[in-house]
Amino acid sequence: MNEPLITIKTFYYDSETMLYEPRFKDAGLYYFLKDQKRVSADPVVSNAIGGIKLQVREKDLEAAKAILKGIDDNRVESDFGKEVQIKGKDYEGTLKECPNCGNEDTYLEKLGFWKSLSNKPKHYCKACDTEF
Ligand SMILES: [Zn+2]
Repeated sequence: MNEPLITIKTFYYDSETMLYEPRFKDAGLYYFLKDQKRVSADPVVSNAIGGIKLQVREKDLEAAKAILKGIDDNRVESDFGKEVQIKGKDYEGTLKECPNCGNEDTYLEKLGFWKSLSNKPKHYCKACDTEF
């Protein structure tokens, strides 16, 4: 294929692509993750080579941008990585699926050092108020 590809997004970790790849597959859009193999084999080089590049064909550019926008708009509402307090306990936003309702926007309890020696941190689902 000689069609030039355009980089529309870069990722520093291979795991980040998991959020995007299925959407492009679902949409039937041709895409290429440049340097993905290099980064997943050796994450340290990611910075040096500018990360993994998500590339699409020029004619798919608008469709690809729309997909990215859809994903990023959703992410704004996500508390992933954020520290929050719920019922007086400290939590950090995570993406573990709730066994009760299937919601993926869940929280992981942050235990202090001493507490973490004797307790396993629990997950909390804000959608259905379940601890697991
Ligand atoms: Zn739930």
